[in-house]
Amino acid sequence: MAYYEDLTPYEYDEDARGDLNVGWLEAGRTYPKAEPAPALVAALLRCSRRPVRLYRGFHDCDLCEDASAVQTWPFQSGGRRYYLGNGEIRVQGADMRWFAAPTLVAHYVAHHHYAPPPAFCDAVIEVAHRLPNLDANALAALAAMSPSERLDFCLDLVRASNVVGHPWATTALQALLAARPAIDPSRRKEFRAELDALYDVIVLAQDPADGPPPWLHEATKNAVQIVFAARSEETLDEDSFDLAADAIESVLEGGVDVSATMMRLT
Ligand SMILES: [Zn+2]
Repeated sequence: MAYYEDLTPYEYDEDARGDLNVGWLEAGRTYPKAEPAPALVAALLRCSRRPVRLYRGFHDCDLCEDASAVQTWPFQSGGRRYYLGNGEIRVQGADMRWFAAPTLVAHYVAHHHYAPPPAFCDAVIEVAHRLPNLDANALAALAAMSPSERLDFCLDLVRASNVVGHPWATTALQALLAARPAIDPSRRKEFRAELDALYDVIVLAQDPADGPPPWLHEATKNAVQIVFAARSEETLDEDSFDLAADAIESVLEGGVDVSATMMRLT
């Protein structure tokens, strides 16, 4: 990954709007240090769950002398796993300036005691405060579900959040709900084709100007991925847990009242 001094202009892409670089560290360069504040690390992790400008694959930390000694990802915190190094965080500061930081900045702060500029820290904490976050009780309830219960819950939640005026989504979700009989490996290929088709419908529905809000797309995509995980012969429990938690938070981010369905997590 490239090195940029903090608060220099971000020039990675053309629509950078005068964003300012933060946290583009490199081995051999000095950087400001401070004891990491747990609230800042938590906020950075929460923001890194919605990365922008995704890379192909993951960047490893250049500062870790022994990469195997400190695992950059998944980064475990508060019962969740975070995949850092595959994108960027963008937050807007109090003076309306935008900051662009690699998601690895959470690792830099937590493990290498990097001290980002205060205006960036304030912006990250402010943005993270507005993002929905499942608490420990909800995560424990989610973890206690079997993969198929989790799938049912997520699909019901996405369906409950489905807003009037998106008949395409209702159709897609009804098909998903209908396509969840007991896992039968011999029919797996068949389901994959069916779900691939559904996924295409969801992606295509993003195109019209009055298409669904991005969070609904994200939540539905997650639900589809959970279906895949539930249907695979080797059930990916940890992955489907992460996907489920992400899907729930995406739905909550949409601001639709899904409290009745969420009661099942209390
Ligand atoms: Zn490191």
